[in-house]
Amino acid sequence: MNFNRGEKVMGLFTRYCGVCGRKIEKGNDIVRFGKHFDSEEHAEQYTKEIEKRRQMTREAPARRSSGGCC
Ligand SMILES: [Zn+2]
Repeated sequence: MNFNRGEKVMGLFTRYCGVCGRKIEKGNDIVRFGKHFDSEEHAEQYTKEIEKRRQMTREAPARRSSGGCC
């Protein structure tokens, strides 16, 4: 009866890097914005991407092409 052991390990900690999708070893995960990463590098990469996206939405023109109301 060893099914319990395997399931426990899998269920307790199975994280995958949000950038490269690699499995992250327990204790080696880096958390940014609620996501897990296998290295500082990828955490950094993700952070930059988030910032870029934020800037884009900020700079994106608001929907006022068909002016009129307000
Ligand atoms: Zn990674």
